[in-house]
Amino acid sequence: MSIEIRSVSKQFGSFNALREVSLTVPSGELVALLGPSGSGKTTLLRIIAGLESPDRGSILFNGREATDRHVRERQVGFVFQHYALFRHMTVFENVAFGLRVKPRGSRPSKGEIREKVEGLLKLVQLESLAGRYPAQLSGGQRQRVALARALAVEPQVLLLDEPFGALDAKVRLELRRWLRRLHDEIHVTSVFVTHDQEEALEVADRVVVMNEGRIEQQGTPEEVYDRPSNPFVYNFLGNVNLFHGRVHAGAARIGEISIDLPEYRATENSPAVAYVRPYDIEISRIRQNPEEIEAEVRHIQGAGAVARLELERLDTSEPVEAELTRERHRELGLRQGEKVFIRPRNLRVFVEDYQI
Ligand code: ADP
Ligand code: MG
Repeated sequence: MSIEIRSVSKQFGSFNALREVSLTVPSGELVALLGPSGSGKTTLLRIIAGLESPDRGSILFNGREATDRHVRERQVGFVFQHYALFRHMTVFENVAFGLRVKPRGSRPSKGEIREKVEGLLKLVQLESLAGRYPAQLSGGQRQRVALARALAVEPQVLLLDEPFGALDAKVRLELRRWLRRLHDEIHVTSVFVTHDQEEALEVADRVVVMNEGRIEQQGTPEEVYDRPSNPFVYNFLGNVNLFHGRVHAGAARIGEISIDLPEYRATENSPAVAYVRPYDIEISRIRQNPEEIEAEVRHIQGAGAVARLELERLDTSEPVEAELTRERHRELGLRQGEKVFIRPRNLRVFVEDYQI
């Protein structure tokens, strides 16, 4: 089932939790709502679910108006960060619950329930734990039970609100890969809320970046990571270096570097900021050209797939973070305290009126 959100706004008192949010989730997609705490993710999820109603705007399911449809009629399944499983019920009974409480007319028979629950436990790889109680499970196993329970009633839409937020890093990593595979199997339209950029980039077909009740950008993980449309998205999705400069008559000057910006032909001497990812900082020991900036190596972290260097510009004392491949790091053989020349590649310039 597709979901369409049209110009939804929501206030709590005088606080704007959502401002004119529009979003389409195509049928069968897994979309991540990614943003800092307080950006309106949960509010949007609750509006999709029908647990909260928007002040303005509308929600359509499969192209049909659903704004006033009751939560029970929306056929949504939920998984929350702390999904309280029934403590006195076994794993099996927890998953069966939604089926057992269906109105008599639509309730499956005992045999059908058994078959369905066994199938779901297999899907979430917990068949062998059907007889256990929640207290006898790990956090990751409990969230898998919660997911099986949400899927038992065959929801048209699955809503997950920071489902792995309370788990430790390694389990989170395993579960998000597992969720991705599961989604590839069952293709239920899903909206996944997270404040963890890596989780969003790894799990989702599409990422919707939210900030202060607005959508800043939406696109595939590659699009939002490689081509952030504004400084907020740049900062939120990964580490980035800022180089300050000015824009004048259609060109930005960042130190000795000049970048053509024809759309700013009429701009006179406005402040601008260039954004550069750490892996786009080139380092050399000898000055290759006048555009390079002199810096000192402050710290080197050489363990891992890439070497991370903390540098300090000699002209402004600003920090610069660089990532080098292992090969390049070995080739350069740098030591802490050494002077080097840095050259940013792939600068993305934003002309100020967007303050961060
Ligand atoms: P997120 O899930 O992105 O952290 P939320 O959607 O939960 O953000 O909340 C967005 C903002 O709205 C927060 O500042 C929060 O305090 C506020 N808010 C959410 N629900 C309510 C409510 N029922 N009453 C008052 N303020 C609320
Ligand atoms: Mg939230």
